[in-house]
Amino acid sequence: MENKIIDCQLYKKLLNNEKLSTEDIKTLMNIVRKEINFLIRNNIILSPMNYERWFRIFCYLHEKGKELTDLEILGLYKDLFFKDSSTISYLPIEERPIGFVEKLKKVADTIDEKLKEIIESINNHQKEIDQHSSVIEENKEKIKENEEITKALNQILKELEELKQQNKTLKEELHRYHQDIEKLKEELNQAKTEANIDFLTTLYNRRRFERALLDMLKDYKERKYPFSIILLDIDDFKTINDKYGHPVGDLVLKEVANILKNYLRANSVSARIGGEEFGILLPGVEIKDAVKIAERLKHIIENRHIKTDGTFIKFTASFGITQAKEGDTLNSIIERADKALYKSKQTGKNRISVEL
Ligand code: GH3
Ligand code: MG
Ligand code: MG
Repeated sequence: MENKIIDCQLYKKLLNNEKLSTEDIKTLMNIVRKEINFLIRNNIILSPMNYERWFRIFCYLHEKGKELTDLEILGLYKDLFFKDSSTISYLPIEERPIGFVEKLKKVADTIDEKLKEIIESINNHQKEIDQHSSVIEENKEKIKENEEITKALNQILKELEELKQQNKTLKEELHRYHQDIEKLKEELNQAKTEANIDFLTTLYNRRRFERALLDMLKDYKERKYPFSIILLDIDDFKTINDKYGHPVGDLVLKEVANILKNYLRANSVSARIGGEEFGILLPGVEIKDAVKIAERLKHIIENRHIKTDGTFIKFTASFGITQAKEGDTLNSIIERADKALYKSKQTGKNRISVEL
């Protein structure tokens, strides 16, 4: 299903190790820059899989000459990668994204080196222009009497001034590229998929979840950017295992993961943080809206079933919600969400509780 709609020549070239032309590299830089800005702007975790998927989308949009809003792009992502929950192939931890990231990393290194060279040569060029300008200025003084020459010199001075200006813009532009590529390199170095992903559900694991939570806490402290956390624990899961067997239990876990993948915005972070416990981080979402999101998930889960051997298996989940507040640490915020979850379990399960 993945290759159905988004076709991108540059992506194919990268995958096939084809030689990239100068034009390709320029395009690549543009795409990566747009992609990274988008991912950061939308709080999307920069994992190798995300890099690849979003790269393909941005490459596709670029090659098709399409300009879409962030919301439209987020929608496109969902259409492409999570169209029908029942047919989602649980992407194995493929080698492909990792291979792709390695390739991107190599290109990033090369681009970075080239950039440094270009910036350097522009700096030298700038010095030359400065020298020319001052020589002309000096001569202008001397030959004031000849009007024509003065005019011509003024013209040259003006052109040099423009060139200087262009150079400055070009240099600034290159510096921005350089910074983006630096960022990309840093992120790529951090991304270690396998250590971050839960194999059964292909959601993030607890370790990655905690790292995302720490990032969000930092954002909250630095610029008061709010976020909420939802803990979701499947009710009476042990009974499901006992009654239908462990493999069916696994199917239920996958189904819940699917629901999270389908119904949450692309910038939220979903993880399996325990046996049958899931954690969701919602950047930019205040508690009131987090409750609405949990209500929706609860409703979807209640109405979902798994069919095995002609038997319909229904299941429910309990929720605990809190939001970041002054002085929070990783532990304090998880403890609060846990307390809320416990409340839901104590008061009859299949419900939502909040702890402020
Ligand atoms: P509660 O409603 O209070 O949450 O009860 P529960 O039965 O859901 O919770 P409990 O903690 O008693 O049992 C959780 C069970 O989840 C026990 C464990 O064997 C099972 N489990 C943990 N990991 C997996 C897994 O990966 N696959 C399957 N099938 N079961 C798992
Ligand atoms: Mg449970
Ligand atoms: Mg549990």
